[in-house]
Amino acid sequence: MKDSPGTHEAWAAALRAHGRRVTKQRLAVLAAVEHHPHSPAEAVLAAAREDLPELTAQSVYVVLGDLTELQMLRRFEPPHSPALYETRVGDNHHHAICIGCGRVEDVECAVGHAPCLTPHWDESATPMTIQIADVMYQGICQDCQRTQTLPSLSKQAK
Ligand SMILES: [Zn+2]
Ligand SMILES: [Zn+2]
Repeated sequence: MKDSPGTHEAWAAALRAHGRRVTKQRLAVLAAVEHHPHSPAEAVLAAAREDLPELTAQSVYVVLGDLTELQMLRRFEPPHSPALYETRVGDNHHHAICIGCGRVEDVECAVGHAPCLTPHWDESATPMTIQIADVMYQGICQDCQRTQTLPSLSKQAK
C-alpha cells in the first residue's frame, strides 16, 4: 500500500508547523501507523522497517512518543494490551476491543443513555468543562462468537 502524495504533504506540513524537521524516520512511522491503525509499537517498528530497514527500535519509540505529544498520533491503552497507536486524531472517536482475540474497532460516537457519558458531579467535586470522553468498550467480535473460542466472562474478571 502506498500513500497518496497528499498525505505525505499534509504530514510534512504538520511537522514543520510544530517546528520538527521532516525526516524519513518520522514519515516512515506515520505511514506505518496509517496502514496499520491500532498497532502496538513493535508492529509499527516492523512495518516501518519495510520502508526504512535501518530504523532502530529506540528511534521508533522516540518518534511515537514525540508524535503523540504533538497530537499527530493518538495513543490509547486497552486493558491487558500494550499501548496502541493510530493516525486518526482529534475526532474523539472511541474504541471497542474484543475480549476474545484483542481485535479493535473504531466507534464513531457513543449514543443513548447507558453507560452514561455526562459526568455527574458530586457535591464535593469541583466540576470541569469536559473536552474529551474516552470510552473503551469491551465485547466479543463476530469471529470469536462464530468460533466460540471466547474465554468465559468470569475468567476475565480478575
Ligand atoms: Zn475476537
Ligand atoms: Zn481508533
